[in-house]
Amino acid sequence: MRSTMQDAPLSIARLVRHGTVVHGASEVSSWTGDGFRTATYAEVGKRAARLANALRALGIDGDQRVATYQWNNQEHLEAYFAVPAMGAVLHTLNIRLFPEQVVFIANHAEDKVVIVDASLVEPLSKVLPEFETVEHVLVTGEDPDLSPLADKGAEIHSYESLLADASDDFDWVEVDENDAAAMCYTSGTTGNPKGVVYSHRSVVLHSMAACMGDAMGLSPSSKVLVIVPQFHAMAWGLPYAAMLVGAELVMPDRFLQPEPMLKMIQEAKPNFAGAVPTIWQGLLGLLEGDDEADISCLEEVVVGGSACPESLMRAFEEKFRVRILHAWGMTETSPLGSVARPPIAAHGEDAWRYRVTQGRFMAGVEARLIAEDGSVQPWDDEAVGELECRGPWITASYHLDDDDEKFHDGWLRTGDVGRISPDGFLTLTDRSKDVIKSGGEWISSVELENAIMGHPAVAEAAVIGIPDEKWGERPLASVVVKDGEDVSADDLRGFLADKVAKWQLPDSWAFIEEVPKTSVGKFDKKVIRQRFADEELEVVQAS
Ligand code: AMP
Repeated sequence: MRSTMQDAPLSIARLVRHGTVVHGASEVSSWTGDGFRTATYAEVGKRAARLANALRALGIDGDQRVATYQWNNQEHLEAYFAVPAMGAVLHTLNIRLFPEQVVFIANHAEDKVVIVDASLVEPLSKVLPEFETVEHVLVTGEDPDLSPLADKGAEIHSYESLLADASDDFDWVEVDENDAAAMCYTSGTTGNPKGVVYSHRSVVLHSMAACMGDAMGLSPSSKVLVIVPQFHAMAWGLPYAAMLVGAELVMPDRFLQPEPMLKMIQEAKPNFAGAVPTIWQGLLGLLEGDDEADISCLEEVVVGGSACPESLMRAFEEKFRVRILHAWGMTETSPLGSVARPPIAAHGEDAWRYRVTQGRFMAGVEARLIAEDGSVQPWDDEAVGELECRGPWITASYHLDDDDEKFHDGWLRTGDVGRISPDGFLTLTDRSKDVIKSGGEWISSVELENAIMGHPAVAEAAVIGIPDEKWGERPLASVVVKDGEDVSADDLRGFLADKVAKWQLPDSWAFIEEVPKTSVGKFDKKVIRQRFADEELEVVQAS
């Protein structure tokens, strides 16, 4: 028996129609360096329609790719709405990748157009000549200087001039809900990045799921500071989720340092935010030296992308009454997979047991753990294995790539290793390639890092496995000491003594200026391993 329900495709066209009308009065504010410029969703919708008409006039048709090379701001949001809702495919280029990688990605995706912020014209001009399929570049901002992009193989336009000449009426296109809406390449540290292509259906379902109470709980009463870049995993789905429910958006543009961030928070008073741990670590450093600073408007902030140290979560909650929500996800999972909201019965310290985990799987995400021998592991919070997941917003393959190593019987192999509790809370202990195997036993680099970062003198810590004749591998901890603090390897080893098993305690320590980071702010352990191999790290032994 078929249902009697209407067959209404889940499309970004519908999402945009809904958001710009029903929530037309909600606002997006973009930081300019000394204040905000603000527009309503209705206005953004009109400008998105102008952009769609302008792109059509330039010949963009069907599922052609329109790339963005932009910070988080109103114009980037306009592209988020216009491009998929006109039936084309939005491709967010990661501006922090190495030039060769950006070139590879733009060519692999066959981008036809690039929309670029005026402040990013310089770096784009370096790679544009090697973009093989790009025909047009649109530069945002009032009277932008187009000259650096001249004679680089594409036609260059002022975004505002194109919009000014276009109609603000566009009949948004309903495509098949399984057709491509947007694409994003992984920020993997080995090999070429891989393209993940989101469908209209996956974006809409992910947006709905993101707003549910088990996830980010966005509503028309939310005002969201979107620090996670729009070029990284669709800014964790925040822009589309916000448009769906009329949550307001606060966009930092290129001002991602702690000082402007604090100003933005104090001026716009967002009650929700999303960013990787390093951003919050930076803000904490600023707040700790400023007794006047008040960020209590932020009720909840979602933190993911890498493990959030418990010490950071506690500092924000205890000193500033800001609740950090730990979440896990990947570019391949749209990206939200799990969020750490404790069960109702857990209070006080008991609740912290749940909050420090990577969280509980959202409705729609199925997960399992696979041991080294291929067996499925139980959810007993002890058995460890590689996390595999599946669901309507989880990728089943990569764009134009037949490498099926990342897939297993219809499940995505995440490359993350951990355990799951009987009530569905995930605890990640490592990336599979970062696991340290000492005397046949696994040592979790993430648990060691979190424990070391709990020391008040430590700003950051990254642990890698180094070869050891007797044990196979032993942990080496690279530590960044906070400004003005002093701590020795022996002090740190002593500090860890009652926190981790004795055989897991690192003997080898290196004190470094900064932990190297990837293009999206994760610890880049590959670089640390290389420095160790090149004998560039000054390693001391704890006694
Ligand atoms: P990306 O595709 O760049 O977003 O990276 C996804 C990877 O980031 C995951 O496979 C994890 O290894 C890591 N990751 C994301 N969230 C967390 C988290 N809360 N804790 C630990 N690792 C995380």
